Amino acid sequence: MTTGLVTTAYLVSGILFVLSLGGLSKQESARKGNLYGILGMALAIIATFVQLSLDPEGVINFQFLAPLMIGGAVIGTILAKRVEMTSMPELVAILHSFVGAAAVLVGLSTFLDPANALMTGSEKLIHEIEILLGVFIGGVTFTGSVIAFGKLRGSLSGKPLLLPGRHMLNLGMLGAAIWFGSQFLEQGHADPDRTILLTDPAGISLLIVMGISFVLGVHLILAIGGADMPVVVSMLNSYSGWAAAAAGFMLKNDLLIITGALVGSSGAILSYIMCKAMNRSLANVIFGGFGTRSGSSPGAGSEVEGTITETTADEVAEELKEAKEVMIVPGYGMAVAQAQHVVKDITETLRTKDVNVRFAIHPVAGRLPGHMNVLLAEANVPYDIVFEMDEINADLPEVDVLLVVGANDIVNPSALEDSSSPIAGMPVIEAWNAKYVVALKRSMAAGYSGVENPLYFKDNTDMLFGDAKDTLSAVFAKLG
Ligand code: NDP
Repeated sequence: MTTGLVTTAYLVSGILFVLSLGGLSKQESARKGNLYGILGMALAIIATFVQLSLDPEGVINFQFLAPLMIGGAVIGTILAKRVEMTSMPELVAILHSFVGAAAVLVGLSTFLDPANALMTGSEKLIHEIEILLGVFIGGVTFTGSVIAFGKLRGSLSGKPLLLPGRHMLNLGMLGAAIWFGSQFLEQGHADPDRTILLTDPAGISLLIVMGISFVLGVHLILAIGGADMPVVVSMLNSYSGWAAAAAGFMLKNDLLIITGALVGSSGAILSYIMCKAMNRSLANVIFGGFGTRSGSSPGAGSEVEGTITETTADEVAEELKEAKEVMIVPGYGMAVAQAQHVVKDITETLRTKDVNVRFAIHPVAGRLPGHMNVLLAEANVPYDIVFEMDEINADLPEVDVLLVVGANDIVNPSALEDSSSPIAGMPVIEAWNAKYVVALKRSMAAGYSGVENPLYFKDNTDMLFGDAKDTLSAVFAKLG
């Protein structure tokens, strides 16, 4: 393969990554999107190997590299196969830390590369800025992701660490990193024989910037409550993309630049969408101090008046038999109960009786983006009856029976009706507009936001208490 072919292979990989992201944005095309991603990555690895073997000055030791890559692939496969859906953010967090660490190491080794010491003028300056950015962003991503992993795993407390004057501390660290960075640029690549960082003034400045970025990453993420971690993981995903893009500039690898930019921007967009769906600002999440709600006892907001009425599985089955239009709103509780398969069985039975069954999915239902879509896909619920919140809210008044399966915040009317509520302004599925609502949950406990839900007290709502899998299995048994 010639250099031209390698460039073409990189271009094709880049296009495959774009197609992959496009595919992943819709449930119907998600599998295809994944396949494009796998193909793109396989092609990128082959082309990189070819490029390295073509480079006459390139030092590549395949005997060491191949076992490391095979070992990594085996460990990655085992971990990905074993991980539970609910632990996915944890796995993603630790993988981001690898990207951050890789960017730092690429930065340090690029600095030590004698070939780069021969650069002059603006080429030298740009190259050194690339090294600096790669080390700094990579350092924040590395330690930030390790802390996020610890918090998600429960090895570190989910409580935010709120040091006095923490914003000033962050600003101070940023200022110090900029100052040492400018020192690094001034001292520059002087000695082509340099091989040890600590014997070189520029090397020492670079190591100090790295140290500051490590501390900043730890401090930034320690200040964020455990409950905001999913958004933070998405932000770190974005940072890891920018760190990879910086590494791509240092290594003069176009594909790494493209891929890094794709990951960086898609992570940033996803974080924005999640924040919007939770009615939070991105700054509010990133600078921390929030997200400490445990989701157990009702928090602030107006007192809810009214009484709750309980129903039984038999009665719910009767209502469903009479219905023509049924809507199912799944939430975090469906994931906890693993009720998606019985939900699918009920859906199938009703559809054979000519009942129009549809699903309404809130963008932040569950605990990770796309959580409900993944569970429904796992249970083989047809894609064409699964709708986004915005597509379905207008249809709710025509719905005869609406089942809220382990969802709480995402169907809470106080988000729209009570300006004192902590979730005021959060867009929600307007379940209460259906003719009859059944809320399936185990108790009257609040959801993730810790806010009481007036939906349960409405005249057209009944509660079916119990584990959603058990109660729905009982409903299914009666559907006949
Ligand atoms: P919620 O956490 O608001 O409510 C889940 C409900 O499920 C609880 O009220 C709980 O009540 C019930 N439940 C738990 N286990 C079971 C079970 N085994 N059987 C039946 N019910 C059960 O979840 P939602 O999906 O409604 O909302 C998601 C929340 O998470 C939002 O506030 C969102 O902002 C937040 N969030 C989402 C992220 C995402 O990426 N999707 C990221 C970060 C936060 P009970 O204990 O009484 O059973």
